[in-house]
Amino acid sequence: MTIEPKDYRVGAGRAVRLKKWPTLGKPFYRGEKQYRDILARQQSQLDKLQKLLYADRRHALLLIMQGMDAAGKDSAIGHIFASVNPEGCEVFSFGPPSAEELRHDFLWRAVCRLPERGRIGIFNRSYYEEVLVVRVHPQVLAAENLPHVPKHGATLWKERFRSITELESHLCRNGTVVVKIFLHLSYEEQRKRFLARIDEADKNWKFSLADIQERQFWKHYMDAYAACLAATSSHAAPWYIVPADDKKNAHLIISEILMARLKKLDMAYPKPGPTRHEELIQIREELGE
Ligand code: ATP
Ligand code: MG
Repeated sequence: MTIEPKDYRVGAGRAVRLKKWPTLGKPFYRGEKQYRDILARQQSQLDKLQKLLYADRRHALLLIMQGMDAAGKDSAIGHIFASVNPEGCEVFSFGPPSAEELRHDFLWRAVCRLPERGRIGIFNRSYYEEVLVVRVHPQVLAAENLPHVPKHGATLWKERFRSITELESHLCRNGTVVVKIFLHLSYEEQRKRFLARIDEADKNWKFSLADIQERQFWKHYMDAYAACLAATSSHAAPWYIVPADDKKNAHLIISEILMARLKKLDMAYPKPGPTRHEELIQIREELGE
């Protein structure tokens, strides 16, 4: 069974009704052994693609991971990138903004951490929180010291969607491939994962009271996500809605999406020109046998 990235892609300009998108899809593996084999193959292919990305030095890859608490963002990042050279990729997790970050526009802190050409940058949460958690709790806007807050609430989010899509189009024009993943978790599966964080001693540290409080706003988050995914999925930077109730399946799907995007780039290892070639032959002779 092959994984088709287009099955998960949100078409540009399309409305999104999250209830229609599955949180559990057909599994692409049969049993633990097959999962490990497929993942291992993907991990080594991704490592090779990153090496080529680095040698070619014209593109960067930005992976944005969004999802509700316990959707599996950390686990996905850990598994998918386990074999990629640590020098070739960097992960940033975005929590509530610091005092310094609040003194800047809402894109600033993320822009400072964009990957350079040749590298993979992973955002564990991102500037999208500014149209998600902030939309669900608009009172946090007070700390942002905005010069004006449009009277009609919807206008603010529309303006932010525009800032985001313009940034992403700019990045795309300048060589950064932007891949955005929404890990689509069900309310019930979140409950099970929270219970595991309480029941299993080695997961206790992950349990947070704040996460339980946010669960009460589930419906508001789903509405905010639906509006955001529809408004910001573009040809340049599409969103992919990945079923997240089965973590292993999600890992296989995301890996495939990333590799498909990288394979579409016209990348090559630099070839030595005639002068360089002669130079190398001469150095070879000097080094002797
Ligand atoms: P887990 O899925 O394991 O719970 P997490 O991604 O929630 O991990 P935490 O450190 O628990 O990691 O939470 C980060 C918190 O920071 C989230 O609740 C998120 O909504 C919040 N956050 C991120 N960006 C912003 C922002 N711009 N404004 C306000 N809150 C933000
Ligand atoms: Mg959390």
